[in-house]
Amino acid sequence: MRQIAIYGKGGIGKSTTTQNLTSALGEMGKKVLLVGCDPKADSTRLVLGGLMQKTVLDTLRTEGDDAITLGTVMKTGVFNINCVESGGPEPGVGCAGRGIITSIGLLENLGAYTDDLDYVFYDVLGDVVCGGFAMPIREGKAKEIYIVASGEMMAIYAANNICKGILKFANTGGTRLGGIICNSRNVDREHELLSEFAKKLGSQLIHYIPRNNVVQHAEINRKTVIQYKPDDPQADVYRTLAKNVDENKLFVIPKPLAMEELEALMMEYGMFN
Ligand code: ADP
Ligand code: MG
Repeated sequence: MRQIAIYGKGGIGKSTTTQNLTSALGEMGKKVLLVGCDPKADSTRLVLGGLMQKTVLDTLRTEGDDAITLGTVMKTGVFNINCVESGGPEPGVGCAGRGIITSIGLLENLGAYTDDLDYVFYDVLGDVVCGGFAMPIREGKAKEIYIVASGEMMAIYAANNICKGILKFANTGGTRLGGIICNSRNVDREHELLSEFAKKLGSQLIHYIPRNNVVQHAEINRKTVIQYKPDDPQADVYRTLAKNVDENKLFVIPKPLAMEELEALMMEYGMFN
């Protein structure tokens, strides 16, 4: 069982990409558990064809620890993907990362990590790898990380920070970076920039995802692209991402860039074209 965490700045496309990736893996016949680790609780919406009724934290709040069963917090979506949403605390109360810690503990106790699983994916909000958001890598649950980024400065900056977080827990938890996923924002020379950034980290660009309106059309219809338009070239892009992840052999302790290095890289690719 490979346990994989997907990190990246808010709005970059983690949930969309993760759900299309897991669907493509499901289509290949892999058995997947998808755990949403964002208080927004929208990590499984496309796979389930609508928002999950109750997150783990909601269920705990309303029903208490004893009443909880796997059936109440886990729903099955397309390609038999098992879906869980951690949820978050009531707004303004408590640490948002708390839900992740609670959820993973609970899933372990309830026996969600069955032997037939090929993959467990954690879709984690992560501009900063602090507190609960570091949980999947701190405790060595997810040994493999992919970071979703684009050519925009802040996305690269966040990706670099996440690498600092991975580095911090690399020796204790054994976590490794499997690659950078470029989710395009149509920035100039984005593909080259992200390839170079990944290389400087000691890693690789695992795949380049073009920006395409079919993603939004699928989203409005509460579907992944794989389900909505299986013959669209964008669906094949996600299938290739799935294949690349499935066959990946390059797992590294990343070497985050110094701020000056990062700025020089942006300058080189973003300014002179
Ligand atoms: P995150 O989970 O990182 O916060 P989301 O996956 O929710 O981000 O994506 C944010 C928005 O970007 C969504 O409305 C989604 O449809 C859109 N989006 C993501 N990837 C693409 C893409 N490759 N092409 C077009 N739109 C995309
Ligand atoms: Mg998300």
